[in-house]
Amino acid sequence: MANNQKTVIVTGGCGFLGSHICESHLKSGDRVVSVDNFSTSNLGNDEFLKKMGGENLIVVEADVTQSWNEWSAHLPESWLENVACVYHFASPASPPLYQKLALETMWVNTIGLSNAMNWADRHTARCVFASTSEIYGDPTIHPQTESYWGNVNTCGPRSCYDESKRFGESLLYTHNWKKGTQHGLVRIFNTYGPRMNPTDGRVVVNFLVQALQGKDLTVFGDGAQTRSFCYVDDLVNAIRKYADSNLTSPVNIGNPVEFTVLELAQKVQEIFSDKKLKLTYHDFPKDDPKQRCPNISIAKSKLAWEPKIDLQTGLTKMIDWLKHENLGVS
Ligand code: NAD
Ligand code: UDP
Repeated sequence: MANNQKTVIVTGGCGFLGSHICESHLKSGDRVVSVDNFSTSNLGNDEFLKKMGGENLIVVEADVTQSWNEWSAHLPESWLENVACVYHFASPASPPLYQKLALETMWVNTIGLSNAMNWADRHTARCVFASTSEIYGDPTIHPQTESYWGNVNTCGPRSCYDESKRFGESLLYTHNWKKGTQHGLVRIFNTYGPRMNPTDGRVVVNFLVQALQGKDLTVFGDGAQTRSFCYVDDLVNAIRKYADSNLTSPVNIGNPVEFTVLELAQKVQEIFSDKKLKLTYHDFPKDDPKQRCPNISIAKSKLAWEPKIDLQTGLTKMIDWLKHENLGVS
């Protein structure tokens, strides 16, 4: 391939979303460097990427909060001539895992982001930061628009994630302001699909694994809290469009069709109707947002993007993938 072949760096490249970004760029013929410390990733994502990536993929095992000099000095020089983007997607993302790795979560979204932006600057590349709908906290505006400043408890079990993402956004904004750079950020709403870690505790993967194992579905609280669920292929299309744009301001990326958690559980019960799954009710987690749904007007107008895959279709694709994972289902 000619030397105008693009290179992208994906931190968290062996995680759920990161692996799909890697896959998408590999399919476009680009060179991809995944940098991951494997702290929360689904085992097997790296093997999947290596099989499809061949000589266009380098998988680096490193903690991105540490210096990038050592591993990046080993990248082939030709790969560094045309770095198009550094996607900073490394971070624990599920509430149980970011609460277990609370300090690590705070550093990767701040120091890790700073390292990513500085490295991108040295290679005249753009950095795109994976921010989150969690920056809106337990929102008082519904659906959430990018202009809403949020409602976050600074001293609670979710603050390690929410506040480090908020600081990350502020760091990126200030870096652009003071250094004249054009880095950007996307606010990602709940996304699901193949290559999620089946044990990471997020609601879609929890319910589907429970269903495949014939276990009760665990509803937290009364299940009246809402989320909207975006299938990963839709999300990656939007992220690629954002990365290719010159936008630096936040853009909500998610599916605006809203469900209560109870409705999601009932949908899973219907799909697995032969198993006659029961629901069990558990304590409502502290500071768990009671409603969440993106307003995606900006994504529609500035990226010409909207999601295409509905929940039923997406769940079916995810179930097909989970059936091939080793979940201990007999
Ligand atoms: P994930 O846990 O599957 O992937 C995160 C990856 O980052 C993992 O492979 C993990 O090993 C790696 N990682 C964590 N800390 C690291 C470090 N210090 N150095 C190197 N690698 C590290 O989670 P995901 O769902 O793919 O989330 C990816 C990004 O998107 C995260 O930044 C998350 O906050 C953001 N996001 C995801 C969602 C979603 O619904 N999936 C929603 C909002 C935001
Ligand atoms: N949830 C649930 N049962 C589970 C896991 C999660 O009822 O087994 C609820 C959780 O309390 C939250 C919603 O589902 O209200 C989404 O949780 P998730 O961890 O997927 O992501 P969040 O949007 O809270 O970061």
